[in-house]
Amino acid sequence: MSKYNYDLFVIGAGSGGVRAARIAASYGAKVGVAEEYRVGGTCVIRGCVPKKLFVYASHYSEEFEEAAGFGWTVGERSFDWKTLVANKDKEIDRLNGIYIRNLEKAGVEIIQSRATVRDAHTVRLEAEDREVTAERILIAVGATPYMPDVPGIEHAISSNEAFHLEELPKRIVVVGGGYIAVEFAGIFNGLGVETKQLYRGPLFMRGFDDDLREMLAEEMMKKGVGLRMNSDIASIVKKDGELELTLTSGEILKTDAVMYATGRIPLTRGLGLEEAGVKLGKSGQVIVDEYSKTSVDSIYAVGDVTDRANLTPVAIREGHAFADTVYGGKDVKVDHSIIPTAVFSQPEMGTVGLTEAQARERGEIDLYKTAFRGLKNTLSGSQERTFMKLVVDAKTDKVLGVHILGQGAGELIQAVGIAVTMGATKAQFDATIAVHPTAAEELVTLREKWQAPLVKAAS
Ligand code: FAD
Repeated sequence: MSKYNYDLFVIGAGSGGVRAARIAASYGAKVGVAEEYRVGGTCVIRGCVPKKLFVYASHYSEEFEEAAGFGWTVGERSFDWKTLVANKDKEIDRLNGIYIRNLEKAGVEIIQSRATVRDAHTVRLEAEDREVTAERILIAVGATPYMPDVPGIEHAISSNEAFHLEELPKRIVVVGGGYIAVEFAGIFNGLGVETKQLYRGPLFMRGFDDDLREMLAEEMMKKGVGLRMNSDIASIVKKDGELELTLTSGEILKTDAVMYATGRIPLTRGLGLEEAGVKLGKSGQVIVDEYSKTSVDSIYAVGDVTDRANLTPVAIREGHAFADTVYGGKDVKVDHSIIPTAVFSQPEMGTVGLTEAQARERGEIDLYKTAFRGLKNTLSGSQERTFMKLVVDAKTDKVLGVHILGQGAGELIQAVGIAVTMGATKAQFDATIAVHPTAAEELVTLREKWQAPLVKAAS
C-alpha cells in the first residue's frame, strides 16, 4: 500500500495534463486530475479548435465573391453570429464530453476544483476544502492572456471573451503582433467587421521568417485589415456607447470593441510552487529539465506553464514523454528543435525549421524562393499570392527550413515537416516527383538559387 492517496496528481486537464494522466494510468498508476474550468483545456475550449471553426466561417465571404469567376451566381447572403457561436459551443461540448469519457475509461479520477500545491507531495483542492497527497505532482495549468496596465483596459477583451461575444461588433481594434492577433484580425475582417490591428513594433510576427512577415502584412492589408505597425493604445474610454482609443501618437480611434492579444503568461500565480521549493523563471514559468522535472524531485511540469514551445502538440508530447519515462520505464525526452507549425492567418502560414536569419547565424546557406498567384486565382479574381521559401545548408545540402504563405499552408507544412525532421537534402526534395497541378509542387521544382539584388531596385 502506498502512503499517498495517488501515485500521480495532475493539476490542469488541458492538452498536456490529460495526455499525461491517461498514459500514466495506462501503466497502472493511480491518477487524479483537478480542473478548475473545463476538461480539455485552452486548445479545445477556447483556443485552437473554436478558433479554427471561426476561421472557416470567416473564409466564406471571400469564397462567395470568388465563385463568380467560376460562373456561379450567389444570391442574397447574410451572416448570423449567434448561429456560429451556438454551433461552435455544441461542438466544444461534444469534445469536452469525449475528453471526460477518455479519462474515466483510463481510470483517472477527475475532480472539478482549483488546486494548489502545499508541499512536495500535497495538493489542496480549493472547491472541496480538503487536501490530498501524491507521490508525484504534475503541473499542467497552462497560461492566460496578458492584459497590459492601460487606463480603461477593463473595456477590452481577450481571446477568451472573443469566443462568447453577445453581438458581433461593427468595428474592432485588435492589439498585438503574435499569431493569435493576426488570426483574430483575419476572422473579424472575414466576418465583415471593420478591423484594425495595432502592433507596437516595426513588423509583427516576430520569430517567423522575415519574408513571410512582410508578405503576410501586405496580403492582410489587401484583404482590408487596417494594419498599423509602431502603434499602441495609451488609454481607452467608454463614451456614448462606443470606445474611444487614444493612441500613443495622440491620434484618436473610435471603435466598438478592443481585443488584446499581447502574449500569454504562465498560470503560476498563487499556485504555491515557490513556497514548495519549485524554481520559477522571470515570467513565472516553471523551470524544468529535459524530463520535465522541476527543482523539486516529486514535482513535474508540462505544457504552456513551462513556456518552452506553447503549442498543443508540444504539450501533448511533453505529457506523454513524462508518463512514458516515469511510469512506463522508458527514457523519453522531447526534441524541441524542429517544430512544424501553422498560423491560421489569411493567408495561412506554415513553417518548419530555421528562418533565414537563424540559419545565417549558423553558417553559409542557399535560398530558394518563389511567389506566384495560384491557379485558382486566375479565375477567382483574387489577387492573393502564394510564397514559398527553402533555406538550405550550403555545405551539406540539408533543408534547414521551409516557410510557406498561402492557401493550405498549414496542411502542407505537416507533410513537409516529416522531410525536414528526417534531415532531407535539397537533392532529395528535387528527386521527388511533383504533384500537378498544385501549389505544393513548387517545393520540389525550385531549381534556381535566389540571389539578393546588389542594389535595391528603384521603386
Ligand atoms: P491548457 O490547455 O491551457 O490547460 C490548462 C488547464 O489547467 C486549463 O483547463 C485550466 O483551466 C486548468 N487550470 C489552470 N490552473 C488550475 C488550477 N490551479 N487548478 C485546476 N485547474 C487549473 N496551439 C496550437 O498548437 N495550435 C493552434 O492553432 C492554437 N491556437 C490557439 C488559439 C488561442 C486563442 C489560444 C489562446 C491558444 C492556442 N494554442 C494553439 C495554444 C494551445 O492552446 C496551448 O499551447 C495548449 O492548450 C497548452 O496546453 P497545456 O496543457 O499546457 O495548458
